[in-house]
Amino acid sequence: MDDKDFAREALAWFFRHRDAAGKEYCAACLAQQLTRHTYGAFSDAALQAVLAECFEDPGPLRVRPRGLCAVCRKHRSCLGIARQAS
Ligand SMILES: [Zn+2]
Repeated sequence: MDDKDFAREALAWFFRHRDAAGKEYCAACLAQQLTRHTYGAFSDAALQAVLAECFEDPGPLRVRPRGLCAVCRKHRSCLGIARQAS
């Protein structure tokens, strides 16, 4: 696994294990949360690259261009997980 794989894993873990259902986070706050919870298992550059990819192609997650970030409470492009996601 390279740095980006670790960052992807961390992102998937974050949305699986946090009480994240129905919440959404802007890229800056997601980066901050992930860095805090993973103690720098990957480089900041790798994390930024993975976040950029996720906003382009969210896969099981979803992107809302004018979402409300659960952390900074600002209306920004946000990444979240659908409430009914399995
Ligand atoms: Zn935010």
